[in-house]
Amino acid sequence: MNLSDERLERLAHKLRLPDVPALVSSLAQEASTKEWSFPDFAEALLQAQSDLSDARACDTLQRLAGFPARKTIDAFDFSFQPSVNRKQIQELASCAFIERVENVMLLGPPGVGKTHLAISLGVEASKRRLSVKFTTASRLVASLAEARTAGTFSRRLMGFVRPSLLIVDEVGFLPLDASEASLLFEVVCRRYERGSIVLTSNKSYGEWGEVFSGDTVIATAILDRLLHHSTTIPIKGESYRLKDRKKAGIVTTPAG
Ligand code: ADP
Ligand code: MG
Repeated sequence: MNLSDERLERLAHKLRLPDVPALVSSLAQEASTKEWSFPDFAEALLQAQSDLSDARACDTLQRLAGFPARKTIDAFDFSFQPSVNRKQIQELASCAFIERVENVMLLGPPGVGKTHLAISLGVEASKRRLSVKFTTASRLVASLAEARTAGTFSRRLMGFVRPSLLIVDEVGFLPLDASEASLLFEVVCRRYERGSIVLTSNKSYGEWGEVFSGDTVIATAILDRLLHHSTTIPIKGESYRLKDRKKAGIVTTPAG
């Protein structure tokens, strides 16, 4: 490495532009072939560094989010699920709802794409450098109950409160007892008007009493806060999971 390379390396490090030295070499060739002006070169260099930094930040945020699978809106087949409005999902994908601190409630039977869409919105948020945490209702309450026993409740709670977007999947999948319901309530209260929640449930709002083991008071209190500033997306239709099996004649009735 010659002296000017070393100086470039040091400055790039100081300015936190780690890829600039490598980019200078790789773009120099292109600049000369395409006869770029100096400003063109400077712009291409900074744009390339900015793209690499964004991609790295996005990867880190997605790793921290703990998504169970990688799902994108592009991979969602809207023609299979006509009850999902593509325009509405695209609007949500802009993440303006996170800026406005609104919630998104995805409701519907198994296999209709609730988790897929929830993860996709999380991925879009991470692309905009917004922090995301993905969890299921049962993992959330189990984690907080464990932290309470271990004396680390406040810190664990902050893990669900701090991210710009919290995704709570599978509310209603398993009924929550009174102490579990109070833990979910705590998280919903702490995020109320402070941070967005994307929530999925296989239960309609009328059935939320059952989700909380018949305690309609806590069900109403939680729903009240969740729905105050929110969009509900009710998904009807067939399970995507059974699509291919149905085609093969293995399943003959809709799964519901
Ligand atoms: P739910 O959470 O509603 O039970 P999922 O989101 O887990 O359903 O969907 C089940 C599987 O089917 C996932 O692999 C998901 O990616 C896929 N899937 C569901 N709906 C669609 C769709 N409309 N287009 C593409 N893939 C879909
Ligand atoms: Mg799901």
